[in-house]
Amino acid sequence: MNVLLPASLPEALDMLARDSAAVPMAGGTDLLVHWPVRVEAHDRTYLDLSRLEELKPLTWKPDELVLGGLTTYWDVIRDNRAGREFPLLVQAARQVGAIQIQARGTWAGNIVNASPAADGVPVLMAYDATVVLESRRGREEVPLDRFYSGYKEMQRRADQLVVAIRIPRRTLSLQVFEKVGSRRAQAIAKVGLAVAHSAAGWRVVAASVAPTIRRCPALERLLESGARVWSSEDLYPAIAQDVAPIDDIRSSARYRTRVMARVLYHDLRDFWRGERRA
Ligand SMILES: Cc1cc2nc3c(=O)[nH]c(=O)nc-3n(C[C@H](O)[C@H](O)[C@H](O)COP(=O)(O)OP(=O)(O)OC[C@H]3O[C@@H](n4cnc5c(N)ncnc54)[C@H](O)[C@@H]3O)c2cc1C
Repeated sequence: MNVLLPASLPEALDMLARDSAAVPMAGGTDLLVHWPVRVEAHDRTYLDLSRLEELKPLTWKPDELVLGGLTTYWDVIRDNRAGREFPLLVQAARQVGAIQIQARGTWAGNIVNASPAADGVPVLMAYDATVVLESRRGREEVPLDRFYSGYKEMQRRADQLVVAIRIPRRTLSLQVFEKVGSRRAQAIAKVGLAVAHSAAGWRVVAASVAPTIRRCPALERLLESGARVWSSEDLYPAIAQDVAPIDDIRSSARYRTRVMARVLYHDLRDFWRGERRA
């Protein structure tokens, strides 16, 4: 294992420009999981980001919250303001693994790992987050809902680091995060859902029901139209347009679709009845 240990962001970007096959490593909670069995990974070069202090803090600005490229789940959990203004970030963070993982795992790592079952990505996407990438060629910003182009495929070049995640501050009338797994803790989502409503419109984001985390445009259009939804079955046509669940070791496609419809319906019904607010 060859490890590069830059002491600053410019140095890290120089190293990546010279060796774009180097793999950035933040918390290592995804990268190192398969270490004992993926022997070929041992020969690669890793770019250890742990000394890049400038990427660690989260920053409040008048109109946005900016997570650093190394901000962890724990950083967000312990920020009281985040709990008040962006409760879904805290709810999702608390459901990522256990405290050890929350303390090491980063939001940027969750984005670049690109698991369709990730918990950080859906809530960031529901909040209209933007991914800030930097390389020696300059800075680039990509809205998270346009970041993925297929399973584990994304708008990031090998010489780019995620240096920040920008989240606009808005008044929300509804925000919900649901993670359905085989148990409440230490589980991978069978279905994940993040829903937000603000003056910018509806955001419905689904996890574990497609090759990538994705927004659900047909469901969002249905909700924008104001059409009344009387049962979970009324959501099926839109869900069928938006997602493509599969049968796998954790669940069946049929179960995922039914659970997604029911969970979403109950959240919406509570909202319309005035029982659920932001
Ligand atoms: C026991 C356990 C439980 C877990 N439970 C959950 C869970 O419940 N929900 C969930 O969503 N995830 C879970 N995970 C997965 C993991 O913890 C998260 O995806 C975490 O956010 C990854 O962040 P990291 O900093 O550890 O990433 P790393 O492992 O360091 O990196 C992950 C990927 O991102 C890239 N990368 C990291 N940072 C950057 C950067 N700044 N710029 C460019 N590329 C970068 C790396 O090259 C790699 O491809 C679990 C993992 C473990 C081991």
